[in-house]
Amino acid sequence: MAGEPQSDCLFCKIVTGDIPATIVRESETTVAFRDINPQAPTHVLVIPKVHYPDAASLAAAEPQIAADVLREAGLVAADEKIDESGYRIVLNTGSGAGQTVFHTHAHVLGGRGMTWPPG
Ligand code: 5GP
Repeated sequence: MAGEPQSDCLFCKIVTGDIPATIVRESETTVAFRDINPQAPTHVLVIPKVHYPDAASLAAAEPQIAADVLREAGLVAADEKIDESGYRIVLNTGSGAGQTVFHTHAHVLGGRGMTWPPG
């Protein structure tokens, strides 16, 4: 069923605690944890507890939870003190865009200068 945990999903296992992660924030609907391969001094992933493969499918099915992910991303930035200098929220969608884990996640990146366009 849509949104149900998937036995082969890495991030569903982080939600259940079966795979450890450095969790920095948690809400009723989301978990935020440090990326295992950080691309900036702050690199945190915010995920919904429900399983949808990408941000668009999450937003279509559960718009409030999609909003929760963005709210938590902003709260991570404030917690990490990168909100004043500026930070980036990235939602890679599809393998061609660099998505490797097909459970919705927002990257929160900051603590260094950012270039545009992204690579
Ligand atoms: P994507 O490439 O799908 O947009 O992002 C997936 C992210 O998950 C990558 O930045 C990668 O470093 C991170 N990642 C992959 N496996 C793990 C893991 O086991 N633990 C944590 N904390 N991050 C992971």
